[in-house]
Amino acid sequence: MITKAVIAGGGIGALTTALALQQDGVEVTVLERRRHLADVAGGVGLMVWHNGTSVLQRLGVGAEIAAVSAEIRAFEFRNWRGAHLMRWDVAGLAERLGSPTIGINRGDLHAVLLDALKPGTFQLGVECTGYKQDADGVTVTFADGGSERGDVLIAADGINSVIRTQLLGPRKPRYAGYTTWRGLADVPEADAPTDYACKFWGPGKRFLYYRVGGGQLYWLALTRAAEGGQDAPGGRRAAMLEHHRGWHAPVEAIIEATPEDAIDRHDITDHKPFKTWGSGRVTLLGDAAHAMTPNMGQGACQAIEDGLVIAAELGKARDPEQGLRSYEDERRKRTAYFQSHSRQVGVMGRWKSPLAVRARDAMVRAAFKGRVSRMHETEMRTGP
Ligand SMILES: Cc1cc2nc3c(=O)[nH]c(=O)nc-3n(C[C@H](O)[C@H](O)[C@H](O)COP(=O)(O)OP(=O)(O)OC[C@H]3O[C@@H](n4cnc5c(N)ncnc54)[C@H](O)[C@@H]3O)c2cc1C
Repeated sequence: MITKAVIAGGGIGALTTALALQQDGVEVTVLERRRHLADVAGGVGLMVWHNGTSVLQRLGVGAEIAAVSAEIRAFEFRNWRGAHLMRWDVAGLAERLGSPTIGINRGDLHAVLLDALKPGTFQLGVECTGYKQDADGVTVTFADGGSERGDVLIAADGINSVIRTQLLGPRKPRYAGYTTWRGLADVPEADAPTDYACKFWGPGKRFLYYRVGGGQLYWLALTRAAEGGQDAPGGRRAAMLEHHRGWHAPVEAIIEATPEDAIDRHDITDHKPFKTWGSGRVTLLGDAAHAMTPNMGQGACQAIEDGLVIAAELGKARDPEQGLRSYEDERRKRTAYFQSHSRQVGVMGRWKSPLAVRARDAMVRAAFKGRVSRMHETEMRTGP
C-alpha cells in the first residue's frame, strides 16, 4: 500500500485515477501545467461508452454524470446520401450491462470528477519537466524550479508526455491521414433526435453527431487531409459546408447552426502500442501510455479504466513497483487492441474511390449484422 501518489497532467485520466486512489485512502496531488481550468477542460463532446460509465458509477459519480449528460439509446451508420448501413441498440446493451453510453461535454465530465476530489488535490499552472527516483520515492520536478515527492509518479500528461520522453526517449505521434473539425450547436429536436447518435460515411469523409448535456448537439467531421492544413481565417464553417455539400439531412443544417467560434480543427494522431510503460516507481496512464485515434470513442474510456485498475493494483501490491507493473500487465493488451482496431477503422474511413466506398458500405452492412456487434459487446464486457 502506498501513502502518496503524484500525478502529472490534469485531464480525465488523471482525475479518475486521483478519485480511485483517494477512495482507497491514498494522498494524491494532481499537477496540471495549464493556468486556467477552462483551457484544461475544453468545450467539446465525448462519447463515454458502457465500459467508461460503468467505472464512473463504481467511483460513485454515476448520478452526477447522468445529470449533465445525454444518454445515447441508438447509434446508426448511414452513407452520406442517407442509406441505412447499420443500427446498434445501445439502450438494449445498456440494460444488459447495467451502464449507459452517454454524450457529455468534456468540461462537464472534468468538473464532476474535480468536485469529487478532496479540496487542494488539483493544482493548476504546474509544468512537470522530469523526475528522479531512489529506493524510497520519486520526485517530480517543475519548470519553475519546484518539485513534489511521492511513493509513485503516474504520468497522465497526454500524447506528448514529457515524463514518457524521459522514460522511453522521444516518440513522435504519427499522423493518421485525416483531420477533425468539431463543433457545438443548438439544433431543434425536430432536426436531430435527442437520444441518438448518427455517423455518416462518405468518400474520404465522415460526419458524426449526438447530443451532450443541456440539449446541445456535438458534431465531429473526420476528413482525409494533408497534415498541418489550415482554414482561411474565419472560414471553418464555410470549409465544412463545402466539404459536406449535398450530404443527407441534417448534416448541412447542423453546420449552418454552429457559430464559427464553436468549431475547432485538429489533426488526428496516435501512437503504436508501447511495450514498456514504466520503470521503478514511475508509470504511464491514459493518452501518455496508449494514445489512439477517436474512431471507436475509447481514448478517454480507456484512461478511465486505467484509473480504476491502477488503484486496485496498488492497493493489493506488496510494494509500489510491483503494483505499477501489475497495472501495466493488466492494461497493455486491452489498450493495444483499441489502438490497432481504431486505426484500422480510420484507414477504412479514408477510402474515397467510388468502388472502395461501395465495398465499405457493403462490408459495414454485413459485418454489423452479427460479428461486429458481438465483438462490441465483448469489448464492453471485458473491461475492469
Ligand atoms: C477528435 C477527438 C475525439 C475524441 N472522442 C472521444 C470519445 O468520444 N470518447 C473517448 O473515450 N475518447 C475520445 N477521444 C480521446 C480522448 O480525448 C483522450 O483519450 C483523453 O482525453 C485522454 O485523457 P488523458 O487524461 O490521458 O490526456 P489529456 O486529456 O491529453 O490530458 C493531459 C493533460 O496533461 C497536461 N499536461 C501535459 N504536459 C504536462 C506537463 N508537462 N506537466 C503538467 N501537465 C501537463 C495537459 O495540459 C492536459 O491537461 C477523442 C479524441 C479526439 C482527438
